[in-house]
Amino acid sequence: MYNSSVIGGSVSTSDSRLFVYEVEGLGSTDGSAAPVRQSGSTFVTVPYGRMAEETRRIMRMGGKIVSIRAANGNNSTAPVIQSAPAASKPMAETKAKAKKPGANVPINIYKPKTPYLGECLSNDALVAEGGVGDVQHIKFDLSEGDLTYVEGQSIGIIPEGTDDNGKPHKLRLYSIASTRHGDDVDDKTVSLCVRQLTYKHPESGETINGVCSTYLCNLEPGTKVKITGPVGKEMLLPEDPDAKVIMMGTGTGIAPFRAYLWRMFKDREREANPDYSFKGLAWLFFGVPKTPNILYKEELEEMQAKYPDNFRLTYAISREQQNSEGGRMYIQHRIAEYADELWSLIQDQKTHVYICGLRGMEGGIDEALTAAAAKTGVNWDEYRRDMKKGHRWHVETY
Ligand SMILES: Cc1cc2nc3c(=O)[nH]c(=O)nc-3n(C[C@H](O)[C@H](O)[C@H](O)COP(=O)(O)OP(=O)(O)OC[C@H]3O[C@@H](n4cnc5c(N)ncnc54)[C@H](O)[C@@H]3O)c2cc1C
Repeated sequence: MYNSSVIGGSVSTSDSRLFVYEVEGLGSTDGSAAPVRQSGSTFVTVPYGRMAEETRRIMRMGGKIVSIRAANGNNSTAPVIQSAPAASKPMAETKAKAKKPGANVPINIYKPKTPYLGECLSNDALVAEGGVGDVQHIKFDLSEGDLTYVEGQSIGIIPEGTDDNGKPHKLRLYSIASTRHGDDVDDKTVSLCVRQLTYKHPESGETINGVCSTYLCNLEPGTKVKITGPVGKEMLLPEDPDAKVIMMGTGTGIAPFRAYLWRMFKDREREANPDYSFKGLAWLFFGVPKTPNILYKEELEEMQAKYPDNFRLTYAISREQQNSEGGRMYIQHRIAEYADELWSLIQDQKTHVYICGLRGMEGGIDEALTAAAAKTGVNWDEYRRDMKKGHRWHVETY
């Protein structure tokens, strides 16, 4: 049994196209749409100018947008969000394969040729005095467009200017550090956590600043920035509020984890997501060079103090702490320290592992878990491959 309704009678843009959203899982609506049932789909007709707003509203209400298509009579036929493939596979295969997450997640709403112009609202230093390098928390306004996203996705930034060949710069990807509701929980912003890349020229020794990271770290509030995306389904958070979420991050790899942890533990987020009341376990391993480099330290420790049974926080501070062999404490040493406990957690099907940050950090983590799994007669490589197939092992390193 389907219901159908039209959202937003007045269209604020000159674009009069209408789109039909197929939505699942809405219990009731806030009155702007016809009542719907718990099971089955609802079809909602949305004017072009209200699409972003309506998507947010549906997500807030716990609904899932299964597909979006142009209403009859529209010129456009391009789907905005891909629908999940029909379940037509044989039973055995369907059973063996874990359901791929993210079928309803927004992707590529803004492409490089037609980026969204988002105003920088704030740009704040994250590294405290005495720390190494520059890392900034940068917030952009999304209220003028249709860009929606979920925790674990990234956006693209196209820096101003041209490259050595006189061509416009290519986009760079950045993990989103805010929840889908944004830092102000008003569905109007997106935030990034960006480290300025600097390195020495291999021959001349001259210091070179990365193009896009330098552009972003020096942005003045008020500047409009070309934004693309969102992209990425690798780092999505399981919807299960009882999940066990193990996060291993270095440096700006904290960005998606900040979004997860806010969603799980921040008061205003919990109010905004009544269907996601996290009761599982979140365990963050965070590797940084020095204490002043613990990005978002206060927020993390505040959440940990408030939810001590649900949130464990383990730092690896390489230049201040020593590993068991007297060397610098890197994240893999902390993983090795807790490897038996982690291995036992990992065997629970509700456990997801996320790795984000420096490229190459997986190697040390694998080594530690190989030893722990071997003690129970399990080959870690094979086990990790199965976890990956089951969408429980998530890596985004750069
Ligand atoms: C999915 C994804 C998510 C990401 N998320 C984040 C994030 O949340 N925060 C963040 O800060 N970054 C993130 N990045 C990295 C980001 O996309 C950029 O790569 C980074 O900011 C550098 O871009 P840039 O334009 O400043 O550097 P560029 O000007 O593009 O310079 C980078 C290039 O410089 C060269 N180079 C770099 N280091 C050296 C060296 N030591 N010696 C010699 N040559 C060198 C290499 O050729 C390299 O390709 C992410 C990347 C990906 C793929």
